[in-house]
Amino acid sequence: MSSHRPLRYLLLLILLIILMVMSGFASYRIAQQLGLADLQTTGLHRLDLYTASLEREIGKYAFLPGTLGLERDVLALLGKSNHEKSLKLVPQVNAYLEQLNERAGTLSIYLIDTNGHVVASSNWRRADSFVGEELAFRPYFREAMENGHGRFFGIGTTRGEPGYYLASKLTDDNETLGVAVIKVSLEQLEKSWTTVETPAMVSDENGVVILGSVANWKFTTLRPLEEKTRTAFDQTQQYNRRALKPLGLKELRELDHGARLVSIAKDTPEIASVYPVAGRFLAQSRPLPGTPWTLTVLSHLKQVDDIAQSRAAVVVVITALLFMFGLMANDRRRHLKDRLAAREALQQAHDELERKVNERTADLSATNTQLQEEITERIRAERTLRAAQDELVQAGKLAVIGQLSTGIAHELNQPLAALRTLSGNGVRFLDRGDLNTVRTNLERIAQLTDRMGLITGQLRTFARKSSGQLQAVPLCNALDNSLALLEQRLIHANAEVRRYCPLPEPVALCDVNRLEQVLINLIGNALDAMEGQPSPLIELGCESIGEQARLTVRDHGPGLDDTALSHLFEAFFTTKQAGGGLGLGLTISADIIRDFGGTLTGTNHPEGGALFTLEIPLIHEAEQHE
Ligand code: ADP
Repeated sequence: MSSHRPLRYLLLLILLIILMVMSGFASYRIAQQLGLADLQTTGLHRLDLYTASLEREIGKYAFLPGTLGLERDVLALLGKSNHEKSLKLVPQVNAYLEQLNERAGTLSIYLIDTNGHVVASSNWRRADSFVGEELAFRPYFREAMENGHGRFFGIGTTRGEPGYYLASKLTDDNETLGVAVIKVSLEQLEKSWTTVETPAMVSDENGVVILGSVANWKFTTLRPLEEKTRTAFDQTQQYNRRALKPLGLKELRELDHGARLVSIAKDTPEIASVYPVAGRFLAQSRPLPGTPWTLTVLSHLKQVDDIAQSRAAVVVVITALLFMFGLMANDRRRHLKDRLAAREALQQAHDELERKVNERTADLSATNTQLQEEITERIRAERTLRAAQDELVQAGKLAVIGQLSTGIAHELNQPLAALRTLSGNGVRFLDRGDLNTVRTNLERIAQLTDRMGLITGQLRTFARKSSGQLQAVPLCNALDNSLALLEQRLIHANAEVRRYCPLPEPVALCDVNRLEQVLINLIGNALDAMEGQPSPLIELGCESIGEQARLTVRDHGPGLDDTALSHLFEAFFTTKQAGGGLGLGLTISADIIRDFGGTLTGTNHPEGGALFTLEIPLIHEAEQHE
């Protein structure tokens, strides 16, 4: 995937460049077209304006040559009736023309007779006066003679001054007398153009620029002149043999409404001008009414080009930005799509998980119900077991009592016999009146019955079913009670008991009745093991080790063999002869101690004999009070 990335970037870059170029080019063309349309409208307005001002300027003089025909002296001068008389009028008419010329602000005013001779002129005073000149070849003269009016642009033959000639035929009673001519300076006409904002020019029917807002353009040609035309110019001396250079205008393209795109070559040296005079222009032309001339307005394209360029630049930048924006939007869309897909996948995984969890929960609840049933079953079984165990404990106790019964019977027989003797003696001493001996006997009887009560009390306590309640039990005291119950057996076996009890006496949390049952069982086993020995010895220990109280019962018998060691606490394991033991003693004892939260272990002492160790949790003083 990542290896495609640089290629993708390259393609995007190429696409961006193509888009930028295309949009730039298109916007440039559109902006240029719009600019050209604007320029065309402005150009037409200017054309209207310049045409109007030129027409007004020319119109001012149009009537002037005709008015000369109203002057009597003028008519008399041109009249052919009396040559002598008319010659006398020349100075008068000259003066009149001079005056009129001054007032009208024209270049010159003169009269030509029907033969083409200038008979009177406003410039009669000057050495180069027109008077006497032959002007029959001038087109305006011929036109006026033929049509009544003649208009002509040309350069003066005498002074080489360019001007506009307005000629009118003068008649008297339908007789042609001659032609009155007014020459208007072109500068006069150009005056109205001083404020133009763009180059403008007037070309005559030959394509020669006769009026121009740019000085250098005057007397240049807009199109190449044919040789025939040049020869005609020589005859009419229209341009007074001036060199008519081409302006250097080249047509580039035709546009709508007669507009053209043209270019004008740079003229050297550069002309100082308020507007550009070289480069590409929009040229708009219109014929000037009443003249054979054409007015042309040139609007420079630089402004349009500049605007089109800047618009194109803006469009290129916008295109680039839009492209980037598009890319970003696309990236974002893809990112969102990915995220949506991921979320969907996650949702699916979640649904799947939930389904599985539901399944498992259903399984679990089934298992749970099953387990609960099993637990209830176990509890029930345990209760049954506990009841059986209690029964067993009781049975064990009764067995012990059975074992003890011989000793107890012996124990009771002795005081009973003594009671019998003492009471018999007592009667006899009472008869003798020996009251002191009777008192002594009675006191002895009381002592004996107390002792008998003690023995039967202990037996009753032992045989009683345990409450199952745990209490603080002083351990040495429990040892003593157990020894008291076994007293007869110990005496009978001639056994020595060594008891080690520290002070303060350790106190453990247990059931005194059951603990004594365990101790009696252990001491009983010890006596059994040492049966037949001349001086059996039992060592009883009691001590506190950390949080535990430890009670030990050690004998000096044969100890435990391997079979006994491995099956010691198993129910019904016994090595004793039938009637000797049930093999339940140690099993029940271990169970009782486990109930107290303790342990019972049996091993061989390194110096011989069996050693049974009993460990149960200690109770500290503060706990005892609670
Ligand atoms: P019982 O006394 O009814 O046999 P116990 O559970 O008390 O049942 O004892 C199981 C067996 O463990 C005895 O039969 C005996 O073999 C052995 N045993 C118990 N205590 C001692 C001991 N102090 N010395 C040697 N063997 C013993």
